[in-house]
Amino acid sequence: MTDKARRFPLSLSALSQKSLPSFRGQPVSSNAIVTPQTATKNSAQNSQPRVSPLAPAATAPKSGPGSLANGARGVPPVSDALRRAMVARLVKQGITNRAVLAAMEAVPRHLFMEPGFSGQAYIDASIPIGYQQTISQPYIVARMLEIMCNGRKLDRVLEIGTGCGYQASVLSLVAKDVFSIERLKPLHELAKTNLRPLRIANIRLHYGDGMLGLPQAAPFDGIILAAAGLEVPRLLLEQLTVGGRLIAPVGAKQQELQLIERVSKSEWSSMTLEQCHFVPLCPGTA
Ligand code: SAH
Repeated sequence: MTDKARRFPLSLSALSQKSLPSFRGQPVSSNAIVTPQTATKNSAQNSQPRVSPLAPAATAPKSGPGSLANGARGVPPVSDALRRAMVARLVKQGITNRAVLAAMEAVPRHLFMEPGFSGQAYIDASIPIGYQQTISQPYIVARMLEIMCNGRKLDRVLEIGTGCGYQASVLSLVAKDVFSIERLKPLHELAKTNLRPLRIANIRLHYGDGMLGLPQAAPFDGIILAAAGLEVPRLLLEQLTVGGRLIAPVGAKQQELQLIERVSKSEWSSMTLEQCHFVPLCPGTA
């Protein structure tokens, strides 16, 4: 099948109906690759060794759109080896994009967690960050980024659901400019606190309702949602560049990753990928 044959231009109104088995050569599976984001499920499923003893934290890759300065003080350092093991596991799980893997290896995930949880930073689990929210599971972060990048260098990307700021940091290494919106004020502040010592120049955090997007910074080459709505907000689709990709979990209890690409000014293609489990996308701010 050619790329063209895999493309299914849809009108905006038709988008939520479509579910297709493959998309532009991306391995797409409708099989259940369940990626639970709930800490309860995760803690039962993950029995990898805890992080201890601890060694110096991550150093940034020397090249890339962004770089991470490891300026944190007073945080127990975590072994680079554990992060490398996490990346080796991502490769086994099917992640192949080198830039994404390098970014996952560079970002010190433990710095985005409460100290009590940092021992679990490199297991494949989502972990509570307070306010009934979680830091996303490493596999799902890598998978979504890989699908969104699709081998391209991204200029501007928008993340909906900053949470603790982890995924934004990974994004900062694969995109030139990262915009991230959080609706919960305390988590917006937490992300600021977490990111400050890392001195990442290309992330801009916004407090607001991500369902409205960020029209003042649009259009975006990529939009990534870290929370699941019953459908993808229409305003976000309109803030994609032509050729841009949006990836989002969609659904309530049963959720699936959805990939949407803007194929022209008035047409979008849609593809349903694997099952997943995210916290809900909620309107408004709090
Ligand atoms: N990106 C995070 C995951 C955060 S969990 C990571 O790096 O691990 C999802 C986040 O989405 C929560 O913080 C939640 O408050 C936020 N969220 C839910 N609905 C939102 C909305 N409409 N706009 C912005 N953020 C939203």
